[in-house]
Amino acid sequence: MLELETALERILAAVPPVTGQLIPLAEAHGRVLQERLLSPIDLPVFDNSAMDGYAVCATNVALAKPDAPVRLRLIGKVAAGETFAGQISPGTCVRIFTGSPLPHGADAVVMQEDTRVEEGEVLILDAAKPWENVRLQGEDMKRGSVLAEPGEVLTAGHLTLLAACGLAKVKAGRSPVIGLLATGSELRDPDQALAPGQIYESNRIGLATLLRRAGAIPKIFPIVADVLGGTRAALEDAFAQCDSVVTSGGVSVGEMDFIRPAFEKAGGTLDYWRVAIKPGRPFAFGRLGKKLLFGLPGNPVSAVVTFLLLVRPAVLRWQGARNLFLPFHPGVLAEPLSNTGMRRHFMRVQVAADGSVRSAGAQASHILSSLALANGLVDVAPDTTLPAGASVQVMRWE
Ligand code: AMP
Ligand code: MG
Repeated sequence: MLELETALERILAAVPPVTGQLIPLAEAHGRVLQERLLSPIDLPVFDNSAMDGYAVCATNVALAKPDAPVRLRLIGKVAAGETFAGQISPGTCVRIFTGSPLPHGADAVVMQEDTRVEEGEVLILDAAKPWENVRLQGEDMKRGSVLAEPGEVLTAGHLTLLAACGLAKVKAGRSPVIGLLATGSELRDPDQALAPGQIYESNRIGLATLLRRAGAIPKIFPIVADVLGGTRAALEDAFAQCDSVVTSGGVSVGEMDFIRPAFEKAGGTLDYWRVAIKPGRPFAFGRLGKKLLFGLPGNPVSAVVTFLLLVRPAVLRWQGARNLFLPFHPGVLAEPLSNTGMRRHFMRVQVAADGSVRSAGAQASHILSSLALANGLVDVAPDTTLPAGASVQVMRWE
């Protein structure tokens, strides 16, 4: 049996080097940045008001109080998107709005609520300190400072920052197109009636979702019956159209398991691994030129878990991501978690908002109700019971 980490090392070593492409910001969410981005401008772009109110000289209004207001002459108005041509001098003020550039000579903004307008004059009812209610040029990002580093997965927050700095395109790792094949003569598409002995196919939809979330472009192929010729034709078709292929089922060593012979007949070389984890022991890893085959076990839970542990990191490496692994969150067991088997068990758990962790239900590899309830996995060592109250690291996948 092969250790999980060894299997992963072998897979990652076979992933081709990343290729970058320039893409518009609108398409960049979830993509992996392949360049260090520096800000071409200061952010804020200029000193501007944080409030609707009046731009003043702070020293002018340092002693203002509700019962001793300071009177200022109103000499103009500056809306957002405008600039004020004149200059503020002691005794004067300018009407200003959130985001308006600060007029020359002003060094503070008194918010509207602390003022009263009387016969063309503005009564300042409260003192202002220098730079109060002013957003300073460059206080957020200085021109030339780093906005994001290569290998980062771009979030909505990143994209907002990049857009604010005037960037329109970024260089991102190319997203691999990954074909999805489900093998099994018992499988039917969800909108068909089931004959005796048949079941609904459920791996492609879950894997497509996980692939998309990892930045890949899934391509779903028709269900493949358990016959050698058909399996070979389906593999050849998928490899012709995709960068790599993920299959489910047909990787055991039963006489109805055709992935290995079909892939070899199609010209690929295939390693068949018994990975020392539960669920998901049988796993096939193949190469056809620079393209990879990930042969997952057919049980839907095994397929999801082996995808998360062995395929997802490869998909991220393909795009040049720095962090290949699911995030770990600390949690505390609200009930014992027991692995009576001889392999590491990645157990489906539910993490509550307060960090307490429970089993998501029955853990056999055909049980899907617990998969639906789970939002994380806990790696429990062989022959181990973790007691209630134990601290655990939860791999969050939902
Ligand atoms: P296999 O790995 O082909 O031996 O399949 C193991 C188990 O998973 C069997 O009970 C299959 O019927 C089931 N199975 C295989 N592929 C799928 C699939 N795509 N959707 C749902 N169940 C599947
Ligand atoms: Mg099968």
